[in-house]
Amino acid sequence: MDLNRRSFLIGGASAAALAAVSVGTGTAASANTKVSPAVALRRLERGNTRSANGRTVQRNYSPLGSTPGKGQEPFAAIVTCSDSRTVPDAMFDMAPGNLFVVRNAGNSIESVGLGSLEFAAAVLGVSLIAVIGHTECGAVIATEDSVKTGELPPPSIDSVVEAIAPAVEALPAGATTNDAIAANARFQAQQIQNSSSTLAEMTAAGTLGIVSGVFGVASGRVTWLP
Ligand SMILES: [Zn+2]
Repeated sequence: MDLNRRSFLIGGASAAALAAVSVGTGTAASANTKVSPAVALRRLERGNTRSANGRTVQRNYSPLGSTPGKGQEPFAAIVTCSDSRTVPDAMFDMAPGNLFVVRNAGNSIESVGLGSLEFAAAVLGVSLIAVIGHTECGAVIATEDSVKTGELPPPSIDSVVEAIAPAVEALPAGATTNDAIAANARFQAQQIQNSSSTLAEMTAAGTLGIVSGVFGVASGRVTWLP
């Protein structure tokens, strides 16, 4: 995919302050191992192709198969839905230690999730944040219903709908559910950029990319959004 055509939301200064938190803890990613946002995206694209084609690499998910005590150096952060079919490590054929994951119903951005992403980028050194919506998303469908009827679901499910509603409300008449799912993924990616000066600085500096996409639960394929 041509990265120049992608709306890489770019930015990092207080990133240095956050990174300082990790000094001496062994958790910061080494500058030598940090990849570019474009390389990180390519890894995700290749992993998804392997996954969708049923050609996954065998992994040892046992704690004994990982490297406990050595810290972590994930290269990408994934924001995705809690839907039981949208498992980031399976979706991208990645091993423990590769992906830092934030999940909730509707893959929306709230304060704890945003703080988690800042930690991932500024301390752990991920190069890419990918917001991945998915087809058949119940949270988006519930939001469409709510926008249509003007009725909110009961607490605390209403918070899920309220986080997605701005994306749905901005759609033109006649938009489909798949349009709403894509619009929500784009909207949440934009929310990350707009809500965090730390991440905005890192994208401006070119050390972090923020992208969005939609996972097809039937196809297993991620379609990246422009
Ligand atoms: Zn969902």
